[in-house]
Amino acid sequence: MAGKNLLEKVWQRHKVRTLPSGQDQLFIGLHLIHEVTSPQAFGMLKEKDLSVKYPDRTYATADHIIPTDSISRPFADPLAEEMLRVLEVNTQEYGITYFGPDSGKQGVVHVVGPEQGLTQPGMTIACGDSHTATHGAFGAIAFGVGTSQVRDILATQTMAISKPKVRRINVNGMLPKGVCAKDLILAIIGQLGVNGGLGYAYEYSGDAISAMTMEERMTLCNMSIEGGARVGYVNPDDVTYEWLKGRSYVRDFASMKAFGEEMKSDADAVFDDEIIFDASDLKPMVTWGINPGQVVAVDEALPSVDSLPEEEKETAERAFEYMGFAPGECMAGKKIDVVFIGSCTNGRLTDLREAAAVIADRRVADGVTALVVPGSQEVAVAAVEEGLDKVFEKAGFEWRNAGCSMCLAMNPDKLKGRQLSASTSNRNFIGRQGSPTGRTLLMSPAMAASAAIAGRVVDIRDSEGGAA
Ligand code: SF4
Repeated sequence: MAGKNLLEKVWQRHKVRTLPSGQDQLFIGLHLIHEVTSPQAFGMLKEKDLSVKYPDRTYATADHIIPTDSISRPFADPLAEEMLRVLEVNTQEYGITYFGPDSGKQGVVHVVGPEQGLTQPGMTIACGDSHTATHGAFGAIAFGVGTSQVRDILATQTMAISKPKVRRINVNGMLPKGVCAKDLILAIIGQLGVNGGLGYAYEYSGDAISAMTMEERMTLCNMSIEGGARVGYVNPDDVTYEWLKGRSYVRDFASMKAFGEEMKSDADAVFDDEIIFDASDLKPMVTWGINPGQVVAVDEALPSVDSLPEEEKETAERAFEYMGFAPGECMAGKKIDVVFIGSCTNGRLTDLREAAAVIADRRVADGVTALVVPGSQEVAVAAVEEGLDKVFEKAGFEWRNAGCSMCLAMNPDKLKGRQLSASTSNRNFIGRQGSPTGRTLLMSPAMAASAAIAGRVVDIRDSEGGAA
């Protein structure tokens, strides 16, 4: 009999039953909640006089609305203050552990979960946030869910969901110098398209993936959703276990590792689809349009609309018009106004290290506003211990408090007017960074730091600070 992949094994372990709708009722091992998508769900719970089934499997933090300049209460924005207050009341009422701004552990939910060791191999994880796939880096099956599913999970610790097919993406060869996980996932989305993963889970494997750190794997899995995949994951290995060793919520390391080994894909596992990528010829990538699939290598010409598949032509035309770019132009050299280094994609310690290494002793270009926003309070403390905050501040970056910041701009950090932003976040949708006419270029932390210094998009491979 053919072997099984991780998704099949984890599904089998967590499936409660098949529902009349044809979907499966799946037990969720870990439920992460935050201030934006939980209030309504708690409201529905209260309406029906239901309790939280497993408060000890539910963890909360606050990220989207947190102001990153000051966390003094009350917040200047009364709506943000109210959202945080409601989360505080709900977590207290239902006995849910809450990593709030006073805890020293607050941060972007997808940074906090792994950092605390809550995210573990073989788990099912859900969170009312699109980028929950991040946790798949640990060999978990992690879903971004809507408010009604948050309600269902709070009330029953289960949710109704259809089992996705699995596409294995084999990434052979090694990433060249100056090319990182962000470039790889952007290239994958560019090739397969933003809808290429619909109905699929992505299993990332191959030499390049095995060689990645956990932070790089998180960056990769984080953006699976941008390629249309429901989840993305990497099979657990020694890199995974070593990273988790000693973390607060890893209470029984041996059992965790044994379960991870049991759940990982068999050597002869069968997949619904398989794709091979060669990492060795990848280049630093930059988005040019209004979705993450509109991406090119930094030194390559933007495509002509005619050269694109029929279904992409209309969006490309809109993108050229909105961004103010033209086919045949190159992204290298584009003047930028704002740099944002942070988010659940690239707000971890290693991301900040990579950006700081590029800066060396140079300064942010005149006229550029540059923000560094650690993904969590623990990331911030570790970065300060290494003196990274000083490197950034000396160069003219603003060193901020942990939060989502300008990734989604549900807080005071926003683009103004048509500003062009070099951002390490994950979405370049119209208006995503807070200005209805603002423009976003997605790139790696090293590329964003380089852009801050030069005041324009540069090829990190040519940058003075070197290709970290
Ligand atoms: S950093 Fe951005 S993508 Fe990540 S959770 Fe916050 S708003 Fe969502």
